Amino acid sequence: MGGEWQLAVQTMAPVIGCAGCGVRATPHGRRTVRVRDLPIGGRPVVLCWRKRIWRCGEPACGVRTWTEHVAAVRPRAVLTERARAEACRRVGKDAHAVAAVARDFGAGWATIMRAVADHGRPLVDDPTRLDGVATLGLDETSFLKATRVAPTRYVTGLVDLERGRLLDLVADRTRAAVDGWLAARSRDWLAHIGVVALDPWRGYASALVAPLGHATVVVDHFHAVRLANTVVDQVRRRVQQATLGHRGRKRDPLYRIRKLLLTAQERLTRRGRVRLRAGLAAGDPTGQVAAAWQGKELLRAVYAASDLADARAALERFYRWSDGVGVAELSRLARTVRAWEAEILAFHSTKGCSNGPTEAVNLLIKKVKRVGHGFRNFANYRLRLLHCGVRWQTPPTARLRGRAPGLLADACIVGIP
Ligand SMILES: [Zn+2]
Repeated sequence: MGGEWQLAVQTMAPVIGCAGCGVRATPHGRRTVRVRDLPIGGRPVVLCWRKRIWRCGEPACGVRTWTEHVAAVRPRAVLTERARAEACRRVGKDAHAVAAVARDFGAGWATIMRAVADHGRPLVDDPTRLDGVATLGLDETSFLKATRVAPTRYVTGLVDLERGRLLDLVADRTRAAVDGWLAARSRDWLAHIGVVALDPWRGYASALVAPLGHATVVVDHFHAVRLANTVVDQVRRRVQQATLGHRGRKRDPLYRIRKLLLTAQERLTRRGRVRLRAGLAAGDPTGQVAAAWQGKELLRAVYAASDLADARAALERFYRWSDGVGVAELSRLARTVRAWEAEILAFHSTKGCSNGPTEAVNLLIKKVKRVGHGFRNFANYRLRLLHCGVRWQTPPTARLRGRAPGLLADACIVGIP
């Protein structure tokens, strides 16, 4: 039990012509080539392919002998093509680890990664994959965490916000990176983009001006709330340090409510609200953390507003509060919001380009990153992620009582171990 299957296969072609002169070739024995195929019943499979050797009998012809070749197995391949395609599908579509697939197939990591690249790249580079995008989202994510010698490396994800799919990744979060990607798109493609949602606190916006000048730029809910949450965190840390003289520890009242502070007000449970109030009463003597929290909620209200007029009123309330309470971090947030006011309100005129897809795509990126344990190689990283936006063709399953499914090309199994 637990070993691998060895299947002997051979082609059945009875007649073949010489490629040199066309004269009917004569069989000249067989040579066994071993190649890995799809696992069967959870066991790795080795095909022992009895490869035929043909000979040309025409004395005037320069061709002597040759071995047959089939499309299902590339010359000198370790894996059959269908096994390579399946390895790519498992890594790309199912986000399985390359190492795990390598184990299941009885092949090396590099062999599987090569299969992923060979079968994945055409899917990724297929220009029709990008068709029909009307709402484009831009977001950054860390690709490699900082080490002692290198800073954290970031990538920018480009997302189809309507359909929630990742379109592409570029190897930086700068203006130049986004510029380059946009420059590679056709004029028609760019013209079709009506809305661009982005994180305004990056250099992206300026990259859009030329190629996407016609599109409405939106600062979406997701990015605005993320920034407001950062402000709440900053104030909490500062007050923590000022009142207790050290960074947050497990028993400190503010540290204990750090997650509750970032939870949306309407999602707090009754118990959560009680804990939040108690934590602030114990750890926030000047009320600055509470003020920052209120500011965050007021900014959220701008996005929750039912229409543009409502949103404008909510924005005024946010400004009045942020300008009035005298918390430096909050004043700074208000200045940023003022600078991006039109783009924030555009969230409503574009009928709230949802933040759901961006978040969903971010979760996907995190999942693939976990599986890959932090990629060193950006090309591999991009390949892995993009498979998630690719349409996979799953081969139809043959009916059990129908015709027997064809095996490797027109091969037939002649013996099992
Ligand atoms: Zn010949």
